[in-house]
Amino acid sequence: MNVRTVPDRLGAARRASSFDAMSDPSAPAAPDIEAFIRDLPKVELHVHLEGSMQPETLLELAAEHRVAEIPDTLAGIRDWYAFRDFPHFIDVYLTSVRTLCDEEDFARLAGDVAARLAAQNVRYAELHVSLYGHLMRGVPATVVFAGIEHARIAAEREHGIRLRWIPDFPGDYGVESGEETLDAVLRHGPDSVVGFGVGGIEVDRTPFAGLFARARAEGLHSLPHAGENGGPERVWEALDLLRAERIGHGIDAMRDPRLVDRLAEARVPVDVSPTSNLRTGGVADIGDHPLPRMLDAGLLVTLNSDDPPMFGTDLTNEYRTAHGLGLDAAALAGLARNGVAASYLDGAERRRLTEEIDAVLAAHTG
Ligand SMILES: [Zn+2]
Repeated sequence: MNVRTVPDRLGAARRASSFDAMSDPSAPAAPDIEAFIRDLPKVELHVHLEGSMQPETLLELAAEHRVAEIPDTLAGIRDWYAFRDFPHFIDVYLTSVRTLCDEEDFARLAGDVAARLAAQNVRYAELHVSLYGHLMRGVPATVVFAGIEHARIAAEREHGIRLRWIPDFPGDYGVESGEETLDAVLRHGPDSVVGFGVGGIEVDRTPFAGLFARARAEGLHSLPHAGENGGPERVWEALDLLRAERIGHGIDAMRDPRLVDRLAEARVPVDVSPTSNLRTGGVADIGDHPLPRMLDAGLLVTLNSDDPPMFGTDLTNEYRTAHGLGLDAAALAGLARNGVAASYLDGAERRRLTEEIDAVLAAHTG
């Protein structure tokens, strides 16, 4: 799908309005911006199914499946979510994934995630599924896909939200884990799988070139994490070796002007998640987040929540945070438009959602 012709007016639209929350980007937004963000039709392109598990659900599933390492109180889980650094976050993530065992667990999680997204006026989401995290525990891909597909179909009927899947594997587990994941996707994946991804600790992506070539040849979009904390070279590898069609995070690209030019010229979308970057140590202070500079540099940036309950956020809060970084209503609408443009919705649906975004902006800014 060609997303390279989408106009980006964000740079010009930013910083236009009264904005005095700069000193404290986490402060509640003004009521008019709150209403605007609520009414804005949104898409999520970088959110992890398993990282979207609410503490209440985690508590119940951990008790049911007796995962002893997980705290047995809500307060304990919230403390457990205070990540020391990125490897600690990955460790907590992979432990929480162990509570997902049968089809009902996956259906329950995906149903809950869909309802929460729909309640934020999210119309469409592409969710990363940590498929290898399940395969390595002996949970068959058929169980995972049956559960999440059940929830996907029900959510579309009940909430009107459409979900698509991006199965992935942790790069630090090696190319064999990627091969096993891709084999399972090709054998058992439903049509709602749109892409293939790699996450985990950001290791050299060179060994994955052949794997991603195979995924692309099978019609899967290449959607790797890159430049979350692994430096600009991971983004170069994603572009040159994995032929990435979007970049997950990509904030480290800002350290390499040549790379920024490449991303801007090729109109490769960059899926940014500000609160995630703060909580895993990618940025020291939310006020220092490069999102405004990325827009100024002409990058096609989308806004995302990554692992919302683990980071104490959701997509609505990411829009609030972007406003706190200096983006006015027009610029927030631009981020929403970019999300639609970078999605794998079909052309007619993208046009319809974009028109709706424009209408909400016009109604709120009159
Ligand atoms: Zn992610």
